[in-house]
Amino acid sequence: MASYQKQLESIGFGYDTLTANGYNKINGVCFTVDLEPSTKNYIVSAACRPVDENAAAYMREAIQQFASERKKIIKNAVFDGKQIIIVWYIADITPDITKCMNDSVSFINYCISQFGCVPCCSSCGNEGNANIYVIENNIAALCENCFYNTQSQLAGNMYRENQVITNYPLGVLGAVLGGLGGAVLWIITSLLGKISMIAGAFAGIFGYFGFKKLGKKMTLSGMIISLCVSFVFLLAGMYFAMGVDIFNAVKEYGFTFSEAFELIPVYLTDPDATGEIIYNHFAGFITFILGAVCCVFQYNNDKKVKNRMIKLM
Ligand SMILES: [Zn+2]
Repeated sequence: MASYQKQLESIGFGYDTLTANGYNKINGVCFTVDLEPSTKNYIVSAACRPVDENAAAYMREAIQQFASERKKIIKNAVFDGKQIIIVWYIADITPDITKCMNDSVSFINYCISQFGCVPCCSSCGNEGNANIYVIENNIAALCENCFYNTQSQLAGNMYRENQVITNYPLGVLGAVLGGLGGAVLWIITSLLGKISMIAGAFAGIFGYFGFKKLGKKMTLSGMIISLCVSFVFLLAGMYFAMGVDIFNAVKEYGFTFSEAFELIPVYLTDPDATGEIIYNHFAGFITFILGAVCCVFQYNNDKKVKNRMIKLM
């Protein structure tokens, strides 16, 4: 990600770390660059359009031509009436972002001279000097009108959201259900003999999202509660899986299910078995911590982008 930022900055683009988006204004046209980590698509959008309706058809042809000449690295390119959107697909080759950006910029400059493209707003399409704003976790090229509309909409959302009060009882129920899901996942994966490491991470994440879903609003104490609850459930899941393991080992000697569970304390203090228990469950605890760290990160990021409304350029 750091190299993505460095490459963009080396050609004069700005970079917003919270959204991981690049941006620039060239000849009045607002450029935004969005990297989709899951697909490794680099989406370059330029807010501009031809003044003449007929020119738009010719420009669409030129965009197709531009994309087909680079079909190994361009996945798709379109003009949606307000923006030229080029999706660079550079997952398989060394990502040379600067080259893609420079290519995009020179193509837009070509569109300006050839099809009479003018800068416009990416929301309403009105001609004029749009500015680049970051609105929560999006970057957009907006005219003043659209910016004020979005701003008042956001203020309305903010007001409504402030009216929402966290429902702790339901939130805890959500965390219990999430934690239970994590525990069941642990039991199933460990009974299947698969490494159940990842189930540890899911226990924490399920608990967190369970609280958020039913409690309506995540808070710091909600996060702590949900992580503690899911940890307890994970421990219970581990305990249960251990009992089942013991039962499978001793059932041929006529032990019942509950008798096998009564053997757990013995098993846990048996020096021969303890090493194995630690080995088997250590990974689960580590991934639980990783999952919890993801939740903390998610909570922090949500808070940082919330109601963010900044003019970038
Ligand atoms: Zn507008």
